[in-house]
Amino acid sequence: MKHVLINDSIVPEAEAQVSYKDRGYHFGDGIYEVIRIYQGAFFALDPHINRLFDSAEKIDIALPFSKQELVDRLNVLKEKEVVIDGSLYVQITRGAAERNHLYSREEQPILFGFTLPDKSNEANETNGISAYVTEDIRWLRCDIKSINLLGNVMAKRKASDHDCGEAVLYRENAVTEGSSSNLFLVNNKTLYTHPANNLILNGITRQEIIAVAAELGIDIVEEPFPKEVLAHADEAFVTSTSIEITPIHTFKGDVEATLTLGPITKQLQQALKKRIKTQTSASV
Ligand code: PMP
Repeated sequence: MKHVLINDSIVPEAEAQVSYKDRGYHFGDGIYEVIRIYQGAFFALDPHINRLFDSAEKIDIALPFSKQELVDRLNVLKEKEVVIDGSLYVQITRGAAERNHLYSREEQPILFGFTLPDKSNEANETNGISAYVTEDIRWLRCDIKSINLLGNVMAKRKASDHDCGEAVLYRENAVTEGSSSNLFLVNNKTLYTHPANNLILNGITRQEIIAVAAELGIDIVEEPFPKEVLAHADEAFVTSTSIEITPIHTFKGDVEATLTLGPITKQLQQALKKRIKTQTSASV
């Protein structure tokens, strides 16, 4: 039987209920994380927990538990669900209250967590995907990992309707990120990606890749670049907890181009996998 985490309790899925007054439903008033589990161990757990607490602070939610208490609860859920390879979704909403834009700071945050089995992304990692280039219509605080993802889900649907696996977004002509991923491109052996400011989510995978690239001696430029540059990239790829490093072989939409799957992408894929293996086998 599947179990879920609600606040400090692990309950059978059938008994997992949330209030219709949850502000997550009314306003998308909450935050979340997706944490990968490899070989029964969380990968990059601390950065995910830190980002969740940062997101809470940025939207003025005072969490009624410590980081360690949260980690303990997530571990209990992982053990209960016996996940070897998969991921854990955890969200916190501001709480349940009469519908009112104005929150009072008296609401009790609601924690919710569940695990998901591994969905293999191997074929995409090997063969690459098409990406649909479209305007970034989201708000100006994309650094917050908010559950309010309307701009992201609309972009993802649009991409899929054009037979693309991801949407690549641009704001005022500068490429920001994917609808659920960060974007990197390679030109003349240098790695380019948007800086971690309010216009993108600073992905944990993005940060891991920047660390891996530095170890490999690959130059990294964190600066905005115009969408036209995508058409001349030697290589491009998107990254996230779920898809790791997934190459892009075709851009469609507002930029059209065909790319080859190149050596730097492959080198980074291998180095990231090695890093994951080392870190997750060390912690079990
Ligand atoms: N940007 C957006 C908009 C995302 O939704 C995600 C994945 N949640 C990412 C970037 C990648 O973040 P991470 O590497 O932490 O999964």
